[in-house]
Amino acid sequence: MNPNAPAANPTPAQPWRGIIREFRTILPPIPEEAVVTLLEGNTPLVPAPRLAARIAPGLSLHLKIEGQNPTGSFKDRGMTVAVSRAVAAGAKAVLCASTGNTSASAAAYAARRGLRCVVVIPGGQIALGKLAQAMIYGARVVAVEGNFDHALELVRALSDEGAVCVVNSINPDRIEGQASAAREIVEQLGGPPDTLALPYGGGGNTCAYARGFGEAGAGMPRLLAVETAERAETFASAIRIVEPVHREQAEAAAEVVTVTDGEILDWWRAIARQEGIFCEPASAAGVAGVAQIRPGGRVVCVLTGHGLKDPDAAERL
Ligand SMILES: *Cc1c(COP(=O)(O)O)cnc(C)c1O
Repeated sequence: MNPNAPAANPTPAQPWRGIIREFRTILPPIPEEAVVTLLEGNTPLVPAPRLAARIAPGLSLHLKIEGQNPTGSFKDRGMTVAVSRAVAAGAKAVLCASTGNTSASAAAYAARRGLRCVVVIPGGQIALGKLAQAMIYGARVVAVEGNFDHALELVRALSDEGAVCVVNSINPDRIEGQASAAREIVEQLGGPPDTLALPYGGGGNTCAYARGFGEAGAGMPRLLAVETAERAETFASAIRIVEPVHREQAEAAAEVVTVTDGEILDWWRAIARQEGIFCEPASAAGVAGVAQIRPGGRVVCVLTGHGLKDPDAAERL
């Protein structure tokens, strides 16, 4: 008998209802009429045996494919919660600073509810696919001179005026929504992995995984937050952040692993060529960190965003 054959009478799968409706009991309160969802979440956890064999014999490696969220990154998990809570609070506009994916996600969820969206980006530094998304979803895009940190400073100053809802990860609703990914992994693996590795930009997602595994109550994996040594000028634009906003909490929850852009490039290519999965460059940081540390047992790497976000990065191959 083929052990992979489907059961004769499989229970029909319940349709997925998005992060808020699936995880309502562990999220801040959101009235049903305020829910803004694109049915985000429920992303695949894909075994990566060829990549695992290249890193260490006997390693069990899975990849959490967050690029399969509606706008192509994990940011959608937090954005559905943040935008829904903004609607519940009566906001008419949302505002964020972004290295790209936050703006794409904010613009999409704002569009779905007819809210205005303003995104502040570091001029000339955003991957093409992400900028295209913000524009097509109808966001007002403001480019500032300087880097992401400057853009965030400006957003914080504007938010002090109180007129709009800031949907950066300084908004705690973002972290709550992103914690759902840890829950899914526990369910998909039948328990927490021994080690979970992910890219470390501002550290919000690191905090979210720590929270999600903590709340799941099945044990805390070893968390590897993987940053690039070249934070200020890395080609992995999603983690081109000099001052991580969540540094203190993230570094209390996870071990920081530092890799070079060269290592990120090598593993970015390897993920595509050995497993057929195209992620954006920053997303390869977790795998690069695992290749450096070589932890044993069951390992999950989070691939945070889709490769088509950043077509220009292919020039580096
Ligand atoms: C936002 C983002 C990151 C960084 O996440 P932090 O929460 O800032 O650490 C990594 N990869 C991708 C694709 C992202 O969009």
